Amino acid sequence: MTNDDIRNQFPILGTEVYGKPLVYLDNAATTQKPAAVIEALSRYYLTLNSNIHRGAHHLATEATEAYEQVRRKVQQYVNARSPKEIVFTRGTTESINLVASTFAERYLSEGDEVIISGMEHHSNIVPWQLACHKKNVKIRVIPFSDSGELDLDAYRSLFNERTRLVAVCHVSNTLGTVNPIALMAREAHAHGAMIMVDGAQAVAHTAVDVQQLGCDFYCFSGHKMYAPMGVGVMYGREEVLDELPPYQGGGEMIKTVTFDHTTYNELPFKFEAGTPSVGDVLGLGAALDFIQSTGLDRIATIESQLLAYATEQLRTIDGVQIYGTATNKTGVLSFNVGSAHPYDVGTLLDKLGVAIRTGHHCTQPVMDRYGIPGTVRASFAAYNTMAEIDTFIAALRRIAPMLA
Ligand code: PMP
Repeated sequence: MTNDDIRNQFPILGTEVYGKPLVYLDNAATTQKPAAVIEALSRYYLTLNSNIHRGAHHLATEATEAYEQVRRKVQQYVNARSPKEIVFTRGTTESINLVASTFAERYLSEGDEVIISGMEHHSNIVPWQLACHKKNVKIRVIPFSDSGELDLDAYRSLFNERTRLVAVCHVSNTLGTVNPIALMAREAHAHGAMIMVDGAQAVAHTAVDVQQLGCDFYCFSGHKMYAPMGVGVMYGREEVLDELPPYQGGGEMIKTVTFDHTTYNELPFKFEAGTPSVGDVLGLGAALDFIQSTGLDRIATIESQLLAYATEQLRTIDGVQIYGTATNKTGVLSFNVGSAHPYDVGTLLDKLGVAIRTGHHCTQPVMDRYGIPGTVRASFAAYNTMAEIDTFIAALRRIAPMLA
């Protein structure tokens, strides 16, 4: 496996921490950015900066065209039917809040039910709690097995005539499980419910085809797919988006305004109030170019080799317990070392140059499910190497006796 050509595109990977080469294994939190993305950002501010859509001048026209071109790129990337179905947001969190709030307003009433899963990130739990609480709507939760797989029989049994929506992650950020979204979507639709997918941990690792998946909404963040922070996407089926009320009011999302009555803009602008983060959107465009020129297949192959090797090596260390061993997994490896606190493991790894994440990973219910306070999580991207896994494992071997 050689990926020097990928690695060389990421300037930050040459960094040293505490005099040691950085081993960055915190990719589920955020990926690093290739030079092309950083250059797209600075090029925007050096040559194109202006507010989009409403300007009559050259820069505004050019910036608008560049921004709308990225929308079309995203449309193609997730295979949406129309660019009208691609709404730019600040990230997955804002995308899910948008869906929860507007869906609740339009479709939920007292006594209705929403299904989520037990492995959701807090950002796919709390927005539903906020929206459902206002309407007296019940949230039901799909349990998962010890290996981290959703119990699909339990899922089927949660539906009733009041079920309106299923909100589930495509890939779990803590367990790495890839959930069977197409099957879950068919089940939801057979019961007359819609489905919203949190794709934050999927889009950079596996091909996403929203039509093939059959989802009504699909939410993700740019910064977990090599793009800048500050931009994300909410995909929604056009027929559904047309039915939803606006999320935020302001400039850009209107057609006409009087003090008596306001009419709203067409899709997708109805959901893009105010000045968007244009530079970050252009950075997202460059990130999509990076993914496509590298090849998602190649990225997925590299990451699954890293996962397989790291898992096998981790199992050779005494006292290591791995959480999340689903058959269908992406490059996320959660574990604990004996009874050592994850934070202690993380701090010691950091001193040896290895960046991983510790804690509940914004999935406290997952920790409760296993009866643990947290885990250590290593997560992989296309630029990681087998040699970095060796460094990580050697570091763990060195610190494990200190924590025993
Ligand atoms: N869902 C999942 C599965 C995630 O991993 C994350 C980020 N950790 C989020 C949602 C929230 O993403 P963001 O913070 O970029 O809005």
